[in-house]
Amino acid sequence: MTLTPDLRSPQPADTPISSDLLPSVLEELHTQHQSLRSGKIADYIPELAKANPDWFSICVTTVDGQQFAVGDAEQRFTIQSISKVFVYGLALEDHGRDRVLAKVGVEPTGDAFNAIVLDEQSKRPYNPMVNAGAIATTSLIKGHGATDRLNRMLAMFERYVGHEPYLDMPTFMSERTTGHRNRAMAHLMLNFGMIDEKIDEALDLYFQQCSLLVDCRDLSVMAATLANRGVNPLTNVQAVSACYVRDILSVMYTCGMYNFAGEWAYKVGLPAKSGVSGGIIVVVPDRMGIAVFSPLLDARGNSWRGVKVCEELSQRFGLHLFECAPPDSRCNHSD
Ligand code: GLN
Repeated sequence: MTLTPDLRSPQPADTPISSDLLPSVLEELHTQHQSLRSGKIADYIPELAKANPDWFSICVTTVDGQQFAVGDAEQRFTIQSISKVFVYGLALEDHGRDRVLAKVGVEPTGDAFNAIVLDEQSKRPYNPMVNAGAIATTSLIKGHGATDRLNRMLAMFERYVGHEPYLDMPTFMSERTTGHRNRAMAHLMLNFGMIDEKIDEALDLYFQQCSLLVDCRDLSVMAATLANRGVNPLTNVQAVSACYVRDILSVMYTCGMYNFAGEWAYKVGLPAKSGVSGGIIVVVPDRMGIAVFSPLLDARGNSWRGVKVCEELSQRFGLHLFECAPPDSRCNHSD
């Protein structure tokens, strides 16, 4: 007898997330964490420092197109480092896995997201989820000149969000005038032949991607698109080729939460990415995309409320990718 397991089907959903239960759990988590004021707003540029510490939203988009949202779901903010995920996908589409891997590694760093550090031996930036790696992947984006490259990047973001994308110009200008660390990294990588000499073009494109305006609902759709094998579940548009989704999710899993990635993988157990404006996206493959937005950050630059909410959601619904215990015999994390 030949066994032909359906390799495409997700883990059995032994804690079904019913559309009845989810809204009340989201409300409950929102109320529970709203009053907590731990953390600090990013203030390295004035546009981020203006954020309201009370802003807080949790949104879920399922792969069959249902949406659940609580809190400030329509409050717009700049995507910041969450953009790195999607630009990595575009670089893979432009060049293929091997060429991208030759320029950007896939190893977690244990260093801060803006560390000026390259792999000692290969001279590659460690991974595409930290600034150095993201600048390298951005430098790979194809196009005939700066405008064409920007338009290709915006078209890619449009496929994920399902509407016309806008950049926040004041944020872009501030990032551009103050981004000396990022410039230093770009020069270091040019020195080692990891990026080409069009440094200013690549840096502008990097600062532009960080300045994309999104709201929490958009982020949940972007995450759901990755959960749905690259197809936006609201528009049915293929945002990224399905063959690269596994690469994107792998680096999100191991490197997406900066130097907290290991603990995140252990506790939450899902591919994710955070940004300094306070967003976190989480992908539950074949099921849904989760987004949390709250600008108060912990010491590593991850949204403080966001991390707590995701830990709870994963625990309550048994979302950890390696969870195999039945619901009634699961061990709880006690912090
Ligand atoms: N614009 C920020 C930077 O380049 C993005 C960092 C982040 O969100 N972690 O430093």
